[in-house]
Amino acid sequence: MSKMIYLDHAATTKTLPEVAEAMEPYQEIYYGNPSTIYEFGEKSREAIEHARSVIARSIHARPEEVFFTSGGTESDNWALKEAVLLHERLHGGRKGHILTTPIEHHAILNSCKELEQMGCGVSYLKVDESGRVLLNEVEGALLENTCLVSVMYANNEIGTVEPIDELGRMAKKHRLIFHTDAVQAYGHIPIHVQRENIDMLSASAHKFGGPKGVGFLYIRNGIKLPAFIHGGGQESSRRAGTENVPGIVGMGKAAELAHQRMQAERRRIKYLRDYLAYRILQEIPDVMMTGNRKYRLQNNASFCFKGITGEAAAILLDTQGICVSSGSACSTGSIEDSHVLKAVGVKSEWAQGALRFTLGAENTKEEMAYTVEKVKMVVQDMRGNGLG
Ligand code: PLP
Repeated sequence: MSKMIYLDHAATTKTLPEVAEAMEPYQEIYYGNPSTIYEFGEKSREAIEHARSVIARSIHARPEEVFFTSGGTESDNWALKEAVLLHERLHGGRKGHILTTPIEHHAILNSCKELEQMGCGVSYLKVDESGRVLLNEVEGALLENTCLVSVMYANNEIGTVEPIDELGRMAKKHRLIFHTDAVQAYGHIPIHVQRENIDMLSASAHKFGGPKGVGFLYIRNGIKLPAFIHGGGQESSRRAGTENVPGIVGMGKAAELAHQRMQAERRRIKYLRDYLAYRILQEIPDVMMTGNRKYRLQNNASFCFKGITGEAAAILLDTQGICVSSGSACSTGSIEDSHVLKAVGVKSEWAQGALRFTLGAENTKEEMAYTVEKVKMVVQDMRGNGLG
């Protein structure tokens, strides 16, 4: 097989051809600044508002509740840092407290670290061995100054989907703002911010067939989240800066396509994922699947292979034309055990051998069969050569 087999869709996805096509006129033809008053700029303004409506509809929100950002990281930073500031403003400068989990993406974890430096409290909810938040621990962890609960919708390394419905209900009961980092979930599984009592939600276009460097933050009407980036009056004066018009148009198109295709794609990808996982678990000794079997993103198959290092295995698979990740793409390069695997109690001798396969639009069964053979070969060779 000479074609590259791309199995790292949790790291990023290819910009869909329809998306690239939709973006193009906004680079070369309709390049007007959306803030201008002449008709030429109006074209860009209309395109932005169309994308906003499409995205709002996809999560059952209102257009004025969707704010465009530069991606998941900015959305997460905005949600956390400004929710804490809002609490301080409403409580005479008293510092707030955040409830989150130890398996969040670093966009959340490092924002929390920063907030802790500034005197804010942060508690990390326990998760079970599959990465699901232990719901019966939540109420006991609430403090009198808790102002925000932030739990990811689905984990980027092990694919576990969190009990968002229940968490949303609990947050509502205690009148807390509920934020979810849905960067891995949005565009892949249905999300309903009303039914799930989600107050704020982060998403990123490049994880669902859109371009890189653009995302959004949903903020429920009534939550007076302060601006994070100050400047002009764009995004209702809540996120300043000339809009990334082509990026926003692309994200709108990607959102539309992802939701049109979701049902069929979920079924197709789950079938391929299950085939891959079944064969790896059956045909390779000393391997375990991480994450939850039931509450799991359909495109995620993550494993730990005993006696090898995931980094080296990923490099060897690359020589066979297969792109996979040895954990979170964002922390590739570090040799430390993944913080997610640590939090779910995976021992270091297993965690070192972590490999993540995340499937997407163009993968085929033939590619899965080829991948199984190559993974078998690489793992066997590494074990045999003591390359662990
Ligand atoms: N949150 C999660 C769960 C992610 O997986 C990622 C990226 O991998 C991010 C946030 C950051 O998103 P972005 O790459 O758009 O900054």
